[in-house]
Amino acid sequence: MKALKNKILEEGNVLSDNVLKVDSFLNHQIDPQLMREVGAEFASRFKDTGVTKILTLESSGIAPAVMAGLILDVPVVFARKRKSLTLSNDLYTASVHSYTKNETNDISVSIDYLNSDDIVLIIDDFLANGQALLGLLRIVEQSKAATAGAGIVIEKGFQPGGKLIRESGIRVESLAIISSLTNGKVEFLEEVLI
Ligand code: 5GP
Repeated sequence: MKALKNKILEEGNVLSDNVLKVDSFLNHQIDPQLMREVGAEFASRFKDTGVTKILTLESSGIAPAVMAGLILDVPVVFARKRKSLTLSNDLYTASVHSYTKNETNDISVSIDYLNSDDIVLIIDDFLANGQALLGLLRIVEQSKAATAGAGIVIEKGFQPGGKLIRESGIRVESLAIISSLTNGKVEFLEEVLI
């Protein structure tokens, strides 16, 4: 997606060889016009999959997820993050380790909002090691819903998450795939990874 890649090049901040900061349009301040384009692109890529619900993770997945939900005309559910959960019968839960933040969160979704009739499109801001996406997939699995696939705004293709998840048979559509952040420079992978 050209507009997204241009925005990353113009405003992205390479913090290290592994971490890209995009606070000016995605992770802190949000660019609604760009998010609308991102949502439209996800909606177009998954329009024939019968999606009934979008699932994302608070907080940075919510903006692109809501824009896609608006166009696909389906509800958007966001998993909540908590430090630790006491077991509860009315929640689907999974444990997610974040390498960027070096912390583990339990994420949860109420059983009221996902069930076996649903076809779920998962949307998230970044795909790096794949732990967040795996956690969301475990939640879908617990609900016995089907998965249409995952829409990712920015994938770091040099980290293992994308390969791991695609190899497990899940369709992953990333709108910008970064091949390298070395020497403070963002480089994109042009071809789509299957
Ligand atoms: P994963 O679980 O795939 O390792 O990481 C996914 C989550 O970590 C994303 O939802 C995002 O919040 C965060 N993350 C991972 N890498 C980056 C990065 O380079 N920049 C930013 N801003 N967030 C990242």
